[in-house]
Amino acid sequence: MALHFLGNRASMSQIDDDGQQSGFPDLFPKLASGVPGILFIYQRSADGLHHRYPFVSDRVRTLFGLEPGDLNRDGQVVFSVVHPEDVAGVAASIEESASKLTPWQHQARMRLVSGDYHWFESDSIPELQADGSVLWYGQFNDIQAFKDLEFSLRESEAEFSFQAGFQKLIARLSSDFITRGFGDIDQSINQVLEAIGRFFGVDRAYLYSVPEQRAEMTNTHEWCREGVESLIDSQQQVPIDTFAWWHQQIDQMILANRPVFIEDVAALPEEAGPEKALLTEQGVCSMFCVPVRTRGMVSGFFGVDSLSPREWRTDQADLLIIVSGLLSGALERHRLEEELLNQSIRDPLTGLHNRRYLYPRLDEMIALWSRERQPFALALFDIDHFKLVNDTLGHLAGDYVLREFTGILLEHTRATDVVARFGGEEFVVAFSATDGEAAGALVNRIIAKVRSYDFVFEEQCIPLTVSAGVAAVGDDGSTNPAPESLLGAADHRLYIAKSAGRDCFANASGPSRL
Ligand code: GH3
Ligand code: MG
Ligand code: MG
Repeated sequence: MALHFLGNRASMSQIDDDGQQSGFPDLFPKLASGVPGILFIYQRSADGLHHRYPFVSDRVRTLFGLEPGDLNRDGQVVFSVVHPEDVAGVAASIEESASKLTPWQHQARMRLVSGDYHWFESDSIPELQADGSVLWYGQFNDIQAFKDLEFSLRESEAEFSFQAGFQKLIARLSSDFITRGFGDIDQSINQVLEAIGRFFGVDRAYLYSVPEQRAEMTNTHEWCREGVESLIDSQQQVPIDTFAWWHQQIDQMILANRPVFIEDVAALPEEAGPEKALLTEQGVCSMFCVPVRTRGMVSGFFGVDSLSPREWRTDQADLLIIVSGLLSGALERHRLEEELLNQSIRDPLTGLHNRRYLYPRLDEMIALWSRERQPFALALFDIDHFKLVNDTLGHLAGDYVLREFTGILLEHTRATDVVARFGGEEFVVAFSATDGEAAGALVNRIIAKVRSYDFVFEEQCIPLTVSAGVAAVGDDGSTNPAPESLLGAADHRLYIAKSAGRDCFANASGPSRL
């Protein structure tokens, strides 16, 4: 006997064929509609082509708006309320249960009368019938509450691992900044940009510097995801005036220390027309910029671009602010280190480099000469009778002369030359890529300039001359010169120039006067 329940009526041993028990008409359908979920009997024909629900609780009407009578005739009706993405899974799960006769337990989204979808779970036991058809006895349960719980659990787990991952990342980056030796700042910043860019899943991460006048901005560091166009070369000294709206945002960043956040470039206000055009051209959909500070003042901004639309949670904004703090700290430390280094290699009176800087630069020039035979020459200048200036006009007059002479030296040399104060009133110029003869001509020009220069201190005219000894690399036949031997030769020749009457220079061939 295959079915007892045709017509959607219960039949059990205690119940007579009309579904009646003494005093309890329609007992089973009533019981069924009183339990949570939907009780059913599902039948699938032996060939798998026909299926129907010989019995299903009346609740299908209130829950799904389906008529039990329709389901009695055709099981396909149920699929009209199964979420389209879940239809294939439901069909497959029935197939599997039928072929293996294992319980049919499957979860799928079903559309309620309200139009919302809820997760339901089927739970039923298959029973093979003599005619080859399969009957399942079971129920559908609304498991949305469990799904909600599961989802929020998974979300908070993901959130926890995101936060933990971020903390780890920041700890690693900060210790990198601390342990990394001085001089690697650019590399460090590039690494931070890459690490942060990958962590947040953006397409570009960058650092801009904005000078105090805020007239322009320059992209100093950039990381791009693979396949994303680099913009750094086109973003040098970009005039900010062209972008009035952006200018306003930068002012806000600087004055209020507030991040600038463009969630959707397409939704930028009308007054941001030029910015919108540029960002669209660059393919940027969404961006986030946070000010970076050095010396307590905003000196630029750190930003990330996303080339596809994305949402930013407010706590992610906070994390980006932490990153900008890290970058600010690194830049500040770098600035202090540079300042310290500068102090140790510069002479405070003239601002020129000192010996500590000169020697390694001479080593470099010697190496270049050994390797590529690129010549260079150095001149040791000494102001004539300088002591007299101090003795007659005072130390301040002497200091004035030293500074004026510095100006003359800088005016007659190139950026690639090294000009250093060697000691009291002695200066060294290392002329790069210059042979002895050319250096002699340059030194002569400097000597002539000093001779004709009006040194005036407190309305007192100070007539001055200067002498020099010139040594070109290799001009003593040495194949492996050292800075000391070159300086020694120049010093010796300076003495020769002094002996020859001052206001002239001497080189390997002796004193020379124009
Ligand atoms: P010469 O022509 O032989 O070079 O004679 P000179 O007087 O220039 O040489 P000397 O070496 O006797 O004098 C150098 C003086 O430079 C002595 C020193 O007090 C002075 N001097 C050194 N450093 C400074 C400085 O920083 N400022 C001033 N005003 N004087 C300095
Ligand atoms: Mg001297
Ligand atoms: Mg002197």
